[in-house]
Amino acid sequence: MSVDKTDLQASLKQYFGFGAFKGLQESVVKSILSGQHTFVIMPTGGGKSLCYQLPALMQEGTAIVVSPLIALMKNQVDAIRGLSNQEGIAHVLNSSLNKTEVKRVKEDIVNGVTKLLYVAPESLTKDENVEFLRTVKISFLAIDEAHCISEWGHDFRPEYRNLRSIIGRIGDNIPIIGLTATATPKVQEDIIKNLGITGANTFKASFNRPNLYYEVRPKTKQVDADIIRFIKQNEGKSGIVYCLSRKRVEELAQVLQVNGINAVPYHAGLDAKTRSSHQDKFLMEDVDVVVATIAFGMGIDKPDVRFVIHHDIPKSIESYYQETGRAGRDGGEGHCLAFYSYKDIEKLEKFMSGKPVAEQEIGQALLQEMVAFAETSVSRRKFILHYFGEEFDNETGEGGDMDDNVRHPKKQHQAKDEAKL
Ligand code: ADP
Ligand code: MG
Repeated sequence: MSVDKTDLQASLKQYFGFGAFKGLQESVVKSILSGQHTFVIMPTGGGKSLCYQLPALMQEGTAIVVSPLIALMKNQVDAIRGLSNQEGIAHVLNSSLNKTEVKRVKEDIVNGVTKLLYVAPESLTKDENVEFLRTVKISFLAIDEAHCISEWGHDFRPEYRNLRSIIGRIGDNIPIIGLTATATPKVQEDIIKNLGITGANTFKASFNRPNLYYEVRPKTKQVDADIIRFIKQNEGKSGIVYCLSRKRVEELAQVLQVNGINAVPYHAGLDAKTRSSHQDKFLMEDVDVVVATIAFGMGIDKPDVRFVIHHDIPKSIESYYQETGRAGRDGGEGHCLAFYSYKDIEKLEKFMSGKPVAEQEIGQALLQEMVAFAETSVSRRKFILHYFGEEFDNETGEGGDMDDNVRHPKKQHQAKDEAKL
């Protein structure tokens, strides 16, 4: 299918109301429309959904979208339906549907009404679904959050491993689109290999976040006081403080409150009502600071988060990048401050000790990279981007002086000695 630039722009406007593509979107859309296997690596918020939604809407047949979370699928389906005012244009196929609903979905697909069909990997494995999908016209198959395929990713899902053989059963020449925000070369290799899409057109956006300032400080007994001082110096600004355990979240939230900081706790142990009320208060700016476990943040899109503090060091650079990435979404200031002590690394190692050996080995390797990051005396930005397979030059690259090591160079042994405190 050949589509010229003006058609693409017009379709973008028509279906989404956007005046321009973001970043690599246009090239990705063209690649998908040309029927080739395509691999997309873009940071969170980069606009990956549109990359497959637009070509799906423009083409004949139904695009199958595999996505790991029912809530995410529902959001996307609702959004697409809202844009087009057409209920049947997008559907979810999963085990929660009753017989009548399944029949309706299938009819819409057969009649060529449905352009996007969202499925969980478990649903795609079901024989009856495979048998049905064999008989209809499929435009392409997109696998969102494709890092779930890899054990090196932060969210490994065994069901994702079987996708390749299922796709083969649905049809012979179905173009496959993989999309992820995981930038490590290892995960990328795994995805390409497992999906059997060697030679796919690959599009990788830069992971550089030039407006974020990265800083790591040694964690001492005074860490709470350090955090309080930092927050007071940033009064009135929104921020997130991440802790490893729920208990620590509760304690620190209280300590902050006692010290006159408008903070609330957030973790998976709180009931749903409290969680959503605390989240809303943060979004509405009734509170300045959320003290949270990693349960907080998925789907949080507050553009003006001005700082992210790690009270405990995360278990991988990926996690660190995702969590710090919640600062400065609007392009404004974003201070990322992590407290590091080797004792915390030992704690994380202990957590892993109950897991299968293979998992432990991977966890160890990821953790050692985190140690190297915390203890490095080179530019933290350069380190992160190198980890993601990207070359960065501090002299010429955007945000080249935005970290502690570049602004205040110190000798490596000093950093190590401090970390042992
Ligand atoms: P990702 O999946 O890469 O994290 P999303 O697909 O969720 O990102 O998109 C992030 C946001 O960017 C969404 O709010 C989306 O509406 C918006 N967006 C995507 N493409 C464009 C565009 N071309 N112009 C303006 N906004 C866009
Ligand atoms: Mg996405």
